[in-house]
Amino acid sequence: MLIVKKFGGTSVGNKERIFNVAKRCIEDYQKGHDIVVVLSAMGKSTDELIEMARDINPRPSKREMDMLVTTGEQISVSMMALAMGFLGVPAVSLNAFQVAMHTTHRYGNARLKRIDTDRIRNELEQRKIVLVTGFQGVDKYDNLTTLGRGGSDTTAVALAAALHADACEIYTDVDGVYTADPRLVKNARKLDEITYDEMLELSTLGAGVLHNRSVEMAKKYGVQLVVRSSLNTNEGTIVREEVNMEKMLVSGVAVDKNATRIAVVGLKDEPGVAFHLFNALAKYNINVDVILQSIGRDGTKDISFTVAEDVADEAVAIIQKSFPKSDYKKIDEEKDVAKLSIVGAGMMSNPGVAASMFEALYDCGVNIKMISTSEIRVTVLIDQKYVERAINAVHDKFSLAD
Ligand code: ADP
Ligand code: ASP
Ligand code: MG
Repeated sequence: MLIVKKFGGTSVGNKERIFNVAKRCIEDYQKGHDIVVVLSAMGKSTDELIEMARDINPRPSKREMDMLVTTGEQISVSMMALAMGFLGVPAVSLNAFQVAMHTTHRYGNARLKRIDTDRIRNELEQRKIVLVTGFQGVDKYDNLTTLGRGGSDTTAVALAAALHADACEIYTDVDGVYTADPRLVKNARKLDEITYDEMLELSTLGAGVLHNRSVEMAKKYGVQLVVRSSLNTNEGTIVREEVNMEKMLVSGVAVDKNATRIAVVGLKDEPGVAFHLFNALAKYNINVDVILQSIGRDGTKDISFTVAEDVADEAVAIIQKSFPKSDYKKIDEEKDVAKLSIVGAGMMSNPGVAASMFEALYDCGVNIKMISTSEIRVTVLIDQKYVERAINAVHDKFSLAD
């Protein structure tokens, strides 16, 4: 069997953890399997590198940031190769350039385009454990790029697809995918299995346990994932196309604190305004999420929407540039908000689900600022200070606890 294993930052955070991972990989290697291991940077080292960079230059170049943070993963793989060598097992570490992992050239948020597998296959044939840096790639000009925060999961799934691996195992610091972030919701329950579609919604809506692109890619290439702990041998969560269980009404609750609400007040109430607004944002690659337009009154209307916090100021500047001042009254920006979402395939045929969520929020006194829905999700925007109270109330409402 060819197995791709991915270990996150906490799982390789210190010497003891590195040896723990090394031993787990060696166990499977000694059963005769081919092992490819994807690693993230040790502990919080990516955050630390970013902080150091901002201290030197508060508006750093994206190219240099990628050059910098890709070092974190390089440290992990070489340390791991040293540990495996110490344990007497041949291992080789490869960075994105050596593999090579080709990406687009969008620094900080590049997309994987193609992976050369020859080098990895060669090393495997020589019975080495192959250790690959997560989260990074190379563009067509040989610049190093990164895939976005949490992107090592995507590296692992992409490698599993490219190598036609028999298994893709994502090892992390919790036992699997839970009905909500177990650090926020004490009653959260581990799921035995979840569909790609549900997992994709959850990870896009803030469940950081898997990078959303990794789920997208797993679905596209039919890579079945197992999410489990690197610290114990408990069975994890399987992510796949179909699940055996009856579809749950709601399978999970997620929060995303990284949201800002922008309201453009007093726009002209005429055709083309929304197009003009969102087209301008799209041109600059700004992703817009929950959208709300008020009913027109006295020839004007308001449009509000959410964007990720780190692009909010840029979004406001784009609107100011794209509309003459006389075309609107003012732009409001609200940063202390969070998105709270419920996700479940069973929602499709059950109209009362949204109402139950709103009831849970009403019962705990949390006001809803915006609402958006899809076939398998309901998202509300709330004040950030109520996140913990709200997520626990909504989670309990749907009896997601044991
Ligand atoms: P890694 O470094 O292994 O990639 P991450 O920090 O990226 O780990 O992801 C694991 C974390 O995701 C957990 O520690 C947990 O707090 C968080 N998390 C958020 N939502 C969920 C969820 N629904 N199920 C499990 N973990 C979740
Ligand atoms: N080290 C990177 C990050 O912290 C990638 C990852 O952890 O997946 O975002
Ligand atoms: Mg992660």
